[in-house]
Amino acid sequence: MKNPKFILGESHAASEKIRLSIISPSITCKAGCSHCCKRKIEITMAEAFLLYSNLEDTGEWESIKKECLNLQKFTSLDPSVWFKSEISCPLLDRESNLCRVYSLRPVVCSSHFVTSNPDSCSPSSSSNSYSRIDTSSIKKEFLDNISSLKDDIQKMIFPLSFALLLAERIRKEVISE
Ligand code: SF4
Repeated sequence: MKNPKFILGESHAASEKIRLSIISPSITCKAGCSHCCKRKIEITMAEAFLLYSNLEDTGEWESIKKECLNLQKFTSLDPSVWFKSEISCPLLDRESNLCRVYSLRPVVCSSHFVTSNPDSCSPSSSSNSYSRIDTSSIKKEFLDNISSLKDDIQKMIFPLSFALLLAERIRKEVISE
């Protein structure tokens, strides 16, 4: 099996950096603006394993796990209802409004950029008419990498909090075998 850190961490980060150096002048996203972290985020299990391992290593997993468990009651919510309910991602630091896993954040996050006024991204915005940069090529490259993985579980996609809890369960089951 290919190392997901290579697929998601190094090659993806490098490609993102090159692409962003081309389009960054028009990006209006700023550190501390976290409206998009209230979207219903879905990630691949390859990303979930990577994030879970990182959070275990940094000692942050137990507190994030509690948030993930609390969020399970919302997982069936429609994405638009989720967003309007302003349910934050469990990986968002509420004090700084920064992503706690920024360098390893899921591709759905790392490929989301707007060129419009960031206020338009707010769940409470009446217009909600923001302009996104087309990053479909970044996502395609990522999905091509994921599809080359032999382990089918890595390709599965779930809501972020559920995916992290599942990643922990699978990793712990593998260790106890
Ligand atoms: S993973 Fe990070 S960037 Fe993505 S929604 Fe969560 S806090 Fe925001």
